Amino acid sequence: MRQRVRKGILAFLALLFPLLFLFLSPFIIVLSAMGGVINGSAIIFAMLFLLSLVGSRLFCGWLCPGGAVQDTASNANDKPWNSSWKNAWKYIIWIIWLSFIILLWIMHKPLKVNFFYMTGINIYIVIIYFIVVSLIYGFTIATGKRGMCHSLCWMAPFMVIGEKIADFLHIPRFRLKADSKACISCGKCNKRCPMSLDVCEMVKKGLIGSTECIGCLECVDTCPKNAISFGISRKTKGRTK
Ligand code: SF4
Ligand code: SF4
Repeated sequence: MRQRVRKGILAFLALLFPLLFLFLSPFIIVLSAMGGVINGSAIIFAMLFLLSLVGSRLFCGWLCPGGAVQDTASNANDKPWNSSWKNAWKYIIWIIWLSFIILLWIMHKPLKVNFFYMTGINIYIVIIYFIVVSLIYGFTIATGKRGMCHSLCWMAPFMVIGEKIADFLHIPRFRLKADSKACISCGKCNKRCPMSLDVCEMVKKGLIGSTECIGCLECVDTCPKNAISFGISRKTKGRTK
């Protein structure tokens, strides 16, 4: 039932993506910065960072329309993407992209805040939309499940940094909890994980702490032995409790 609700929410948000995209765009934030404006995307990325201090990456698993598009593309390629650098690329791209935006903001001071800047529909926005959606589809089909989340997502680093800061400051946040004794190594959790994580191995170690976990709860709902649960808690000596 829970997964039906999650997938229903994602499917609905995928329908709204042509509108939501304007507030999650990695390009419109740059165009806005060139005009000296802090736009809706910038404000939402800041909110995602703040939410991740408690909510970790629940946005990715439950609310991201880009994730929903990728889940659809996974019908064409549902293999895990096995590349040793797959998770590193997004941070390299993100640092360059964010540095460029900050530089533009500094160059165009004083800045104005306009949440709805460049949210009118015109031919350029339509072209940008199709480029982004094609990139998400094409990349996921070429790489595998949630390939873009792993390697290209410009929002994920904000949330991973939020998780790290929460752990550093001992702020309780959303976590999975593992009962290693209950696990029978059936591997069902691995098959269901949209981020292709080795959940079984993490459970056996009593630790599910990957920054690639998007909190979708597929593993919780599929485990026949209830070896995985979830809750809000502080980090304790590298283990989730
Ligand atoms: S580890 Fe579990 S909650 Fe995290 S992404 Fe994989 S299936 Fe979802
Ligand atoms: S589904 Fe549950 S029992 Fe099976 S490997 Fe995963 S954690 Fe262990």
